[in-house]
Amino acid sequence: MSNIKRIQNNLPLRCAALIECPRNRRYLTGFVSSYGSLLLTRDTAVLLTDSRYIEAAQAAVACCAVEEIKAGRLRNLCKSHGVKKLWLEGSATMERVQQLRTALPGVYLSSNRALDVHMNQLRMIKHDDEAQKITAAQRIAEAAFAQVLPTITVGMTERDVALALDFAMLRGGAERLSFDTIVAAGVNGSKPHAVPGDYALRRGDLITMDFGAVVEGYHSDMTRTVALGEPSAQAREIYDVVLAAQEAALAVIAPGVACKDVDAAARDMIKAAGYGEHFRHGTGHGVGLAVHEEPRLSEKSREVLRPGMVVTVEPGVYLPGVCGVRIEDLVVVTDTGYVNLTACEKELMVV
Ligand code: ZN
Ligand code: ZN
Repeated sequence: MSNIKRIQNNLPLRCAALIECPRNRRYLTGFVSSYGSLLLTRDTAVLLTDSRYIEAAQAAVACCAVEEIKAGRLRNLCKSHGVKKLWLEGSATMERVQQLRTALPGVYLSSNRALDVHMNQLRMIKHDDEAQKITAAQRIAEAAFAQVLPTITVGMTERDVALALDFAMLRGGAERLSFDTIVAAGVNGSKPHAVPGDYALRRGDLITMDFGAVVEGYHSDMTRTVALGEPSAQAREIYDVVLAAQEAALAVIAPGVACKDVDAAARDMIKAAGYGEHFRHGTGHGVGLAVHEEPRLSEKSREVLRPGMVVTVEPGVYLPGVCGVRIEDLVVVTDTGYVNLTACEKELMVV
């Protein structure tokens, strides 16, 4: 069954869905564009787009009708299909809702999260071709890491390292970067999402690098923490705690396991080592057309792992004023367990 059909089957009577989030539109139609409205009623699917995209869309999209958007067309479509209620995405802006309110008199606009829930349910489970794109992106990221790692030296700045990773990923075939690369060294390592700055690397620093590549819209995400010369005993201890926590979380990953139990496996280990208050983010997240998507591996998650989910496993310990460690792998859940897509050393590397 097509993804469009799956959404249509969830629509209540006289209800349609309007998909305008570029990633959701891409997911359902396969067509990449910055602008367009995909209208789904129970029995029709129409992609409305503008003159910039119409020719390419008509050639590429086979799963639904494609029309150039004209004033009043959305209203006519709603009218002719008896649409009384329109599901909108949570990403619809107030401005857009106002426009639609004016354009579609008599249609009740609903941002009740139902559409987002259905879209997330679909996007969470990756098809083989999606998993392949994520894997290809991960291969590019780890090749970049292997290339840059031996070049890291005392005196380089965090920005230098980030730029080297970015360049290597783009050179290696990434269509873009998954997100702004994080390089956090020494005391900066205690900020989980530090912005790489002019800090110059010193001997004994731990360096946390979090980065990813994009292939055909699909993201990768990995983190490694390495030491520049022999680190302190405390830094090594923290590293070992985080690595043990990460492996404990990986060990429970299997279909049917609650996402919060994966988080608990890592969190309990870090708590037991006395660093519980220094691990304050979730253990992982889904990755796909967005770098952060469902499911979340967190204490609050009510989701259960299913085959095809692609998630990160990334516990960390962050000691303010001292250092930080995070280790992040990307895995795909299979029928029997998982496959780790990150083929990269995890024992503390001293460069
Ligand atoms: Zn990451
Ligand atoms: Zn991540």
